[in-house]
Amino acid sequence: MNLNKFNQVFPKEEGIFPYIYLANMCIPLFFMLREPTETLYPGLLLLLIFVIVYRQIFWSSKFLILFVVVELVITLVLSYFYDPLYLYIVFVFSYLMTRLQWKWLYWLCGSYAIFSLILIYQTVFPDHLILIVSFLPPVFGGAILPFIMKASLRYKELNEDLKRVAEELRIKSEEKERLEESKKRMLADLSHDLKTPMTTIQGYSKALYDNFVEDEEQRRRYLKYIYDKSIRVTDLIDELFIFSKLDNPDSLINKQEQDLCEFLRQLIVEFYEMFAEKEMELNIEIPSKRIVYSFDQKLFYRAISNILENTIKYNPLQTNVFISLKESKDLLVIEIGDDGTGIREDLAETLFEPFVRGDKSRMNDGGTGLGLAITRKIVQKHNGRVYVDTNPTRGSTNFIIELPI
Ligand code: ADP
Repeated sequence: MNLNKFNQVFPKEEGIFPYIYLANMCIPLFFMLREPTETLYPGLLLLLIFVIVYRQIFWSSKFLILFVVVELVITLVLSYFYDPLYLYIVFVFSYLMTRLQWKWLYWLCGSYAIFSLILIYQTVFPDHLILIVSFLPPVFGGAILPFIMKASLRYKELNEDLKRVAEELRIKSEEKERLEESKKRMLADLSHDLKTPMTTIQGYSKALYDNFVEDEEQRRRYLKYIYDKSIRVTDLIDELFIFSKLDNPDSLINKQEQDLCEFLRQLIVEFYEMFAEKEMELNIEIPSKRIVYSFDQKLFYRAISNILENTIKYNPLQTNVFISLKESKDLLVIEIGDDGTGIREDLAETLFEPFVRGDKSRMNDGGTGLGLAITRKIVQKHNGRVYVDTNPTRGSTNFIIELPI
């Protein structure tokens, strides 16, 4: 074994430069150690192979082309995973390719310096003094490496920030568009919903007024139509009014301390008949003790009855309904769930937006798409949050109201 060759890892004439390059490995290492484990280990492994290949080239120039190819592959893989390493690794690689021709190395160093200075100017140092210092032409590329790394890291961060901001903007504008669209659609539906009962009311009342209806039975039927339609109109106006009132950040609520358990029990009793009509089975878990909480009774009644009404309206006969109130260390949790129709997961969040309805085809079922939006506004006014679990452990839908204690 040729010990001399073994000891001489790098050609003597290159002095300490190759060692400086290797020392610079701590820079990619530093970045790599900040990566999550799933990218850290493959990165470390590739880096190790990289170093071995690097050294091997000096031991055996016979396989130079092969090693260069291997190193090119590793470079590409590494640069695919780790942006800031890209410049560094490409630099080392280029050095490797040109190490036998020093004049090319200087050219390379020069172009790297110019490129990195542009990068540094754009990203890291707005401070002109540092910029002038950085302008000193690097005799050796390694001197500029930390700057390149810093710049490229900053560049990566800026890039990620930009990407994130752009993504947030995109989501926001999409959301806005969707809401606008939904509002337009709903306003059109609302005016239609208002117009239809008004036309009916006008038609029937005119017929009655002009004495066109002689049959007593028919008269009664017409009067019932008029009454029902007027109820529909007042409901619509009522919901719109409440929503716009709650939407106003200055609107005040009238909180009073009272027993939440008793309040819920009484509310359920009021809905009992409606549940019975649809043969729904109620599973209720409300503690028998008192839980005193400060809330606006009228608004809370509205918030919870909106969910209960939906449960009755949107589910088939014989649906099981689960209502519970639980108390944890810092939260009161009201859950209203069912094992009925279920709600599509992608609708879960948007259902609480005003004018959003589950199924476009059911426009004439008397809904306005404001019920859950009103519920959310009321819960928010109590500093709580309401959301729907579309995949609960029990049943198919679970509305959860969390109230801070
Ligand atoms: P509206 O009832 O006027 O349509 P809401 O805001 O109260 O408006 O409800 C929004 C949508 O949520 C409803 O159109 C319905 O599709 C869906 N929904 C609410 N509760 C349930 C439930 N328990 N099961 C299935 N769908 C529901």
